[in-house]
Amino acid sequence: MIIAIYPGSFDPITNGHLDIATRAAKLFKRLIIGVCETSSKHLLFNTEERVDLVMQSIVELPNVGVESFTGLAVDFARKVGARVMVRGLRMGGDFEREFNMGMMNKKLCPELELVCLMSSVEYQFLSASLLKEVASLRGRIDDIVPKHVAQALREKFHNEL
Ligand code: ADP
Repeated sequence: MIIAIYPGSFDPITNGHLDIATRAAKLFKRLIIGVCETSSKHLLFNTEERVDLVMQSIVELPNVGVESFTGLAVDFARKVGARVMVRGLRMGGDFEREFNMGMMNKKLCPELELVCLMSSVEYQFLSASLLKEVASLRGRIDDIVPKHVAQALREKFHNEL
């Protein structure tokens, strides 16, 4: 009966993130999406907004929850009693980044296992940063984010209610 965390910035959550969460939820008793509370200037949505967008996205996933966290993801895992950290892998740079981070996390918290799920083909190209660029230029984003996220992006960039 394993609890897993899925940490990230989720600025905002995309269908690529949701695909990973949906598949991971089938593997574990409980999956907790950890929204990292960072002061990075590059974030479009504040922590409360990012948590809220995740919450609205997981209503149909009964064993998935969401919490924000500050500091190290391994400390968040310890706090919620998770034995596994889930991450998504797209083609390109993700593997090297996840590998390095995974090695460091193993050093910091040897009892925590990393489980990487490969991104589904249709979301391989999708990153939150590219999504934000397309949304800011009024590109079509309806099939790569949930409806409420598309709406939140339109409000942020174009003040459209
Ligand atoms: P980052 O670690 O770059 O801040 P995010 O917070 O956006 O990444 O995402 C958290 C996790 O979700 C990471 O493991 C990232 O690789 C993964 N992820 C992001 N976009 C996708 C996607 N389109 N398909 C699969 N996994 C993804």
